[in-house]
Formats: sequence, structure tokens, C-alpha cells
Amino acid sequence: MSKTNLKSLTLNQLEEFMKQIAEPTYRAKQVFKWIYKGETQFEKMTDLPRNLIKKLNERAYISIIGKYKKHESTLDGTIKYVFLLEDGNMVESVKMMYSYGITACISSQVGCPMGCTFCASAEGGMVRNLTWWEMADEILAIERDSGDKVSRVVVMGSGEPLLNYDELIRFLNVLHNPNAFNMSFRRITVSTCGIVPEIYRLADEGIPITLAVSLHAPNDEIRSSLMPINRRYPILQLLDACKYYIMKTNRRITFEYALISGINDDEKCAHELSNLLRDMLCHVNLIPLNPVKGKTFKRSKPSQVRRFEKILSANGISATVRRELGSDIQAACGQLRRSLLMR
Ligand code: SAH
Repeated sequence: MSKTNLKSLTLNQLEEFMKQIAEPTYRAKQVFKWIYKGETQFEKMTDLPRNLIKKLNERAYISIIGKYKKHESTLDGTIKYVFLLEDGNMVESVKMMYSYGITACISSQVGCPMGCTFCASAEGGMVRNLTWWEMADEILAIERDSGDKVSRVVVMGSGEPLLNYDELIRFLNVLHNPNAFNMSFRRITVSTCGIVPEIYRLADEGIPITLAVSLHAPNDEIRSSLMPINRRYPILQLLDACKYYIMKTNRRITFEYALISGINDDEKCAHELSNLLRDMLCHVNLIPLNPVKGKTFKRSKPSQVRRFEKILSANGISATVRRELGSDIQAACGQLRRSLLMR
């Protein structure tokens, strides 16, 4: 008889499991809570009777994501983890320290199908979706390693979360669940390259997370040259979906804009972007492009970054330059990739 991985079960499914093994359903919640405290051994679940522990050991286990490699930044203490999944695939996650605590940057897919020209995650294409509990496991593993709780989550690692929609929603719900991570939706950010129909769907979901949209250009010509998805869902369609999201959730959207020297960083672009976003409840995160091995794009000079920010601000657009973390260990935005055993 193959054993059931209890970590892959929702609370409802765990209740079903308890019924099947002739146990009262309230045991499910006890075990569920232990799983999200990071416990993987039934013996250590102190509120379970001995006979149940024995039964669980015979029929079940709690998987544990294998920490494969850990790289620590000497610049800012950011840690990049390369985790080994049960099927041998690997996925990268990042732990960042802020004054308010730990922010975890989580990957949603092994690889990424989007093909953005400036991003390392696109190399090697898409391998598979992560399940909701593998995403939860990225957080549990970071908590286990740091001995501290993660207080914010950004789904900004490799992959396009809105193409893994159902698992993403299950993951967000377990983050929010008081018996699991008990995290306010307001501490969660999901970033998308702009999958328009799924932005509408997310808006109707009624969960007040922060949506971040990777914009990176003020017009279709530049955006299509950088991001293939723009040919499918051009900017005006994307912004309509964003406006709907804002209207439904009353939440401010974050637009990510990587500044690439000579491509999207001149004054004309700054004005064009201002016109595009005028009167929208939004914030622009400017990210001086992070270098990616094998790519020719260059980051904008600091003076150019400041000028761009100034123009947006003068036009009434809220904008800040994102603090760069973990760049010495290839852990910054756009530097996460599909890790291979060989590297
Ligand atoms: N697929 C989602 C989630 C990835 S989030 C999305 O596209 O939003 C990763 C963020 O880093 C995205 O905003 C992405 O556009 C940005 N990024 C990618 N490569 C980058 C680079 N070289 N420098 C700075 N930001 C980059």
C-alpha cells in the first residue's frame, strides 16, 4: 500500500482521510495545524493518541522539500534557496529581510513559458506547474531554515502564477487559513506578466491581495519587443483588466517597470507612461534592470533612473525605485532560473 502524503491534502481532504481510517474528523485539524507549524513527524504531534500515531506512520507521511543549495548574499543577507522537489525538479525561492520581518519570494512554476527577453526564468522554457502545497512548502522550508515565521509573500519567483490559476488560489487560501499560515491577504502580492482573462477572474475572486503587473514599456511597440505576451494581450486590454481589478477590489495595483538602457528609459517613455497611468489607483516600481548572464541588455544609469522617477512624480504618478536585494547571488528580480543538477 502506498502511503499518502498528508501535506498534499487540504483540510477537507484530510478530514476525508481521517474518516477512511476510522478516526474522528477533528483529528484532521490537529494534524493540519502541525503540518503548518513545520512538523513532519507524527511522534512529535503531542496531542495525538499513540494508536493514531501508529496508524499514521503505517499509512501516511509528510513530505519535506529537500534543501539542495543555499546561497547567502554578502551585501544584504538575502538568501536564495534551490529546493529539490519529489520528482527531481528544482525550484528557486528567495528570503529577504526587512525591518518588519521576512519576505519570501516564491516560484509558481518550474521554468516559465512566457519568454520575456530580459528574464533568466524564461531560459529553458516551461517544465511544469507547481502544486499549491509545493508552493506552501517553499515557505515552510524557509521558516524551518531560519527558525522564524515568514511575514509577507510575493509570488514573483520563476513562473507565471496566473497560468497556474487553480493551484495559486488554493495556495493563497492556505496562506490565509487561520489553521495554516494565518496570513492577511494584504501581506501577499502576486505578480503577472498580464494574462488578461485571469486578471478578470482574480478580480472576481474577492481576495484582497496586491496585484503586481509587469509592464516594462509605455507602448505596444516596445512592450511586444520585450514580452511576447503583449502580442496576445496588448497594453490597452491589459490596462482595462487592471482598471476592473481596481474597481472590484479597491486595491492599488503595482506596475513593475525594469529600466533598460536605451530601450524604455528615455524622457519620452516617462511621459508616455504617465499619460497611460494617469488617474489610476496605482504605484510604479522602477527596477534598474538586473544583469542576466548571456543577455546584452544593460541597466539604465542611476541619473537616468532618477530622471525617469522625477518625471513620473511630476506628472502625479506615485513611483519608487525598488531596492535591489541579492544581486550578488543571482537572486534579484529576473535572475531566478530553472536550476539544473549539473550547475
Ligand atoms: N511571471 C510573473 C512573475 C515573475 S515576477 C511576471 O512576469 O510578473 C519577476 C519580476 O521580475 C517581473 O516583474 C519581471 O518582469 C521582472 N524581471 C525579469 N527579468 C528582470 C531583470 N533582468 N531585471 C529586473 N527585473 C526583471
